[in-house]
Amino acid sequence: MPATKHTARKRFGQNFLTDARIVDRIIATIAPKKNDNLLEIGPGKGAMTLPLLEELNQLHVIEIDTDLIALLQSFGKENLIIHQGDALKFDVSKLPAPLRVVGNLPYNISSPILFHLLNNREYIQDMIFMLQKEVVERMVASNGNKTYGRLSVMIQAFFEVEMIFVVPPESFEPAPKVDSAIVYLKPLEKNLIDDITVFEKIVKASFAQRRKTLRNCLKSLLTQEQTSIDLSQRAEMLSVNEFITLTSDYEKQH
Ligand code: SAM
Repeated sequence: MPATKHTARKRFGQNFLTDARIVDRIIATIAPKKNDNLLEIGPGKGAMTLPLLEELNQLHVIEIDTDLIALLQSFGKENLIIHQGDALKFDVSKLPAPLRVVGNLPYNISSPILFHLLNNREYIQDMIFMLQKEVVERMVASNGNKTYGRLSVMIQAFFEVEMIFVVPPESFEPAPKVDSAIVYLKPLEKNLIDDITVFEKIVKASFAQRRKTLRNCLKSLLTQEQTSIDLSQRAEMLSVNEFITLTSDYEKQH
């Protein structure tokens, strides 16, 4: 199918990159090396895929839309390995590691994709994504900031994270309603968390009612006597390391 004939599907969060200068900046940020093991999520019509293929011995892509799969196959590129399916169910452990993961992510499922990759971080070297700017702001926010929340803590506990640059709606077809941004993520060398499920439970409960104190939010989990963290604060005041302490204090009791 000719690329121009594909109608963007909202349910797959399709906003195709059309600005060549932005594509160049993204590729420069990725800085691919010939032997890198790269996985692109949602290659779409290939805006990033084709320039990446120029730089790499091999590129894996995972795409859900079968029409776009047909288009990608029509490129006839031998070094492009196409996987059809849902990135949320894709087993990244079967690809060569360490893996670099890139993509202009479908915005409707960007958080679930991030959490899926977070759970597979042991295979990952780094990740470069296009996301809604507002989501990237939440990912990089520090404590005391209005946008600091569950996503900031969950991401920063496992990754070094940096907003690289902002991308305006006009760079896509169709244009999204909001600004986007490129974010860089690199797994932290030291894993400070034993059990991610317990950490997630504490962080989720802490932010469940933002206006309430931690004492209130964590009532059924932890008392002030059981932790060195001052529970009269609100969750948004706690640093990522304090959440880690809170979790290990909780684990000591259970
Ligand atoms: N990379 C292309 C570009 O920059 O022009 C397309 C980006 S578009 C925002 C998101 C892409 O992800 C689409 O090609 C869409 O079909 C694909 N996609 C959506 N949901 C997906 C899923 N669950 N698994 C894999 N790909 C998905």
